[in-house]
Order: sequence, then C-alpha cells, then structure tokens
Amino acid sequence: MHDADCIFCKIVKGEIPSTKVYESDSVYAFEDANPMMPVHVLVVPKNHYRNIADSIPDDEMAALMQAAGAVAKLKGIDESGFRLVTNTNDDACQTVHHVHVHVLGGAQMNEGNPSLKA
Ligand code: AMP
Ligand code: ZN
Repeated sequence: MHDADCIFCKIVKGEIPSTKVYESDSVYAFEDANPMMPVHVLVVPKNHYRNIADSIPDDEMAALMQAAGAVAKLKGIDESGFRLVTNTNDDACQTVHHVHVHVLGGAQMNEGNPSLKA
C-alpha cells in the first residue's frame, strides 16, 4: 500500500509538504517542485505502485486518468491544450518510483514527446 522510503507516499500522507491541486479518494495531485512548463502538476495514486506497468487495479487506473483531466480543467488548460507524460524506468529517466502522471501545459509545446530532462 505504502513504501516507507517513497517521497510521493510521504507527500500523500502529508509527511512532506506539497501544494495540493486536486484530491479524490484514491488520487492526489500537487504542483511539481521543479516546473518545466507554466502548468506542471503531478497526479499520483494514493497507493504505492512503481510505474504504469505495475499491477494497478482498473478503478485506480481510471481514477488516475480522470484526475489528470480534472487537473487540466482546474488549471484552465483543457481547451488550450496539455500533455500527459508518465516516465517509466531508466530509459525514460523515471526518478521517483511511485507512478505519476505529469500534466504539462500553459505554453506551446514541440511536436512529439517532450524530453523532461533535456
Ligand atoms: P520523474 O523524473 O518522471 O520521475 O519525475 C519526478 C518529478 O517529481 C520531477 O519533475 C520532480 O521535479 C518532482 N519532484 C520530486 N520531488 C518533489 C517534491 N518533494 N514535491 C514536488 N515535486 C517533486
Ligand atoms: Zn510511494
């Protein structure tokens, strides 16, 4: 359920401060500490899963994606446009191994996939 050493589990539990954007029964969303775009929010399941390829129950997976859309609406970027990114393992430079969806927007992005580490 939770990993004692995981920073996003600590954020979900309130042990590390965060700026909350959205919350539901199973999902928490907060401002990225190092924003790459004018809007940069992280959406995480409250339960600990390592990445999007982990065994995530259908209802929690649905809630995660619904929350990403809700965050875009709350931030006013649902019409202008936004991008969802889920870095997974080393080739994609995943640094926090608690699955999270980056909600990115608020400015024109390049075509193709962004390289968040570039
Ligand atoms: P990733 O590289 O896809 O694993 O993304 C991890 C993201 O977590 C990065 O964009 C970091 O800026 C962000 N991050 C790390 N620690 C925190 C924190 N304590 N609060 C908010 N965002 C964080
Ligand atoms: Zn975790």
